[in-house]
Amino acid sequence: MVLAELGGKLRDSLRKLQTGGQGDVTKAQLQQILNEIARALMEADVSVKLVMTLRDKVQSKVEHLLRNEEDEEVVTRRHSSNLSKTVQRAVVDELVALLSPGGDVKGAKKVYTMKRGKPNVILFLGLQGAGKTTTIAKFANYYQRRGWKTAMVCADTFRAGAFDQLKQNSTKLRVPFYGSYTEADPVIIAEKGVNQFIKERYEIIIVDTSGRHKQEEALFEEMQEIAAAVQPDNCVLVVDATQGQAVYDQALAFHNAVDVGSVIITKLDGHAKGGGALSAVSATQSPIIFLGSGEHFDDLEPFNAQSFVSKLLG
Ligand code: GDP
Repeated sequence: MVLAELGGKLRDSLRKLQTGGQGDVTKAQLQQILNEIARALMEADVSVKLVMTLRDKVQSKVEHLLRNEEDEEVVTRRHSSNLSKTVQRAVVDELVALLSPGGDVKGAKKVYTMKRGKPNVILFLGLQGAGKTTTIAKFANYYQRRGWKTAMVCADTFRAGAFDQLKQNSTKLRVPFYGSYTEADPVIIAEKGVNQFIKERYEIIIVDTSGRHKQEEALFEEMQEIAAAVQPDNCVLVVDATQGQAVYDQALAFHNAVDVGSVIITKLDGHAKGGGALSAVSATQSPIIFLGSGEHFDDLEPFNAQSFVSKLLG
């Protein structure tokens, strides 16, 4: 996966600081290393705006930590491994803050936590092909295995086959399912399905919605109507890691339509650059909760920003 390449590039840039020897490290040198790090992030499709913010934050943090009283142009006179460590720590901290709920990101949301013994209505959103239906099955499997009473509702009336796909998954996973071959209104299906499962005391009620090939007004209106009808506790946006920079705009458009509370990134097992999908976090100011890493029900990993970034930077 290309994210590993990003990790390699970041490590290489940081290593250059270590091999610099004993001499002074100037502001210009620090700037050069930060530019390299920024370039590596941009090549991995992290949004340009985000990279610039991150670079500025790392720079001011490093300069603040290693302030040199004698010469303004020199960042540090100490052995450059100090600088290397400080830059690395600042990059890690800023990446973690970017990806963490309640971190440095202004207005960032806390992860929604499922409540036992109560209905948790979870609305899934995403463009067609993002992996929404597959992810719903993985998500249902994840919670069902941990003892949650879980059910699924198919309110995707747009894509032929969505109903059968979810139904098949439902049978394989033994997770009950609500849908209709005849009802064409997704709002009615969503409302009926959710109400039925609330009555039956299900704890996690997952609603699949339709996508479109591109962002369309009709899609966002439909999402708003469904959200108004089922009053979800959490809206989960599913984004495809292979979509690159486009993900930021997609995520923003969904977030402007409904209150996205969490993000799941799919297809990180493939040739995804990944950075664009990470930018979805800043567009929605919502945390990533899971990563999808394959087509099987078990290919879903809970997301932890700290360990993700640590792995990335080795
Ligand atoms: P939807 O239109 O958003 O509901 O998308 P689907 O769930 O039907 O998924 C579209 C395609 O992506 C299918 O072929 C899935 O098997 C595949 N897919 C979904 N998630 C992943 C993933 O994490 N990794 C890989 N490799 N493929 C995935």
